[in-house]
Amino acid sequence: MKCEESNRKCQHTVFKIAEKKDNSPVIRESVANILSALGEDVGREGLVKTPERVAKALQFLTKGYYEDPCSIIKSALFEEDINEMIVVKDIELYSMCEHHLLPFVGKAHVAYLPRGRIVGLSKVARVVDIFARRFQVQERLTKQIAETLNNCLEPQGVAVVIQAAHMCMQMRGVQKQNSVMVTSTMLGAFQELATRNEFMNFIKGSL
Ligand SMILES: [Zn+2]
Repeated sequence: MKCEESNRKCQHTVFKIAEKKDNSPVIRESVANILSALGEDVGREGLVKTPERVAKALQFLTKGYYEDPCSIIKSALFEEDINEMIVVKDIELYSMCEHHLLPFVGKAHVAYLPRGRIVGLSKVARVVDIFARRFQVQERLTKQIAETLNNCLEPQGVAVVIQAAHMCMQMRGVQKQNSVMVTSTMLGAFQELATRNEFMNFIKGSL
């Protein structure tokens, strides 16, 4: 009952689930157009199947639009009387920046302070993937993961820290190869300094 309410809340405030349709023909044609606009011969051997491959890759990299993170969380909820912080750190993260359609790659660290129930560990990583597999900005990605866990799991608090290297910064523009961006969202109990510090201590070695 509680969960149903949370689910509705999430869908209205944090994310929308897109309707599935076959977009392959449009993507293939568009990729071929981009290649020829850039001066390539789309008929040459190495490129003949490229539009099809790119379409498949893009569909995979954006499949989070069609997945429902709240039902993933709901599928592995367990009633447990635990009041200690649960931390899942070093979750591999691959996403695409919405400004340049280039990858950003890094790690997510997620923590929550339970309120009577816990979620299966792998589901936390799934939630990260669902939001990462969309066109994103790192700030919004961080917030969406935190708010979804907060709404669907209803813990005492949630913390998410993401560190990532952005190809749009490393390969082009300012070409800063070693800079990483760190973003964080702290909700509920994690807005208190002691709890926040405890979490930051857990992930210190990973940052
Ligand atoms: Zn970018």
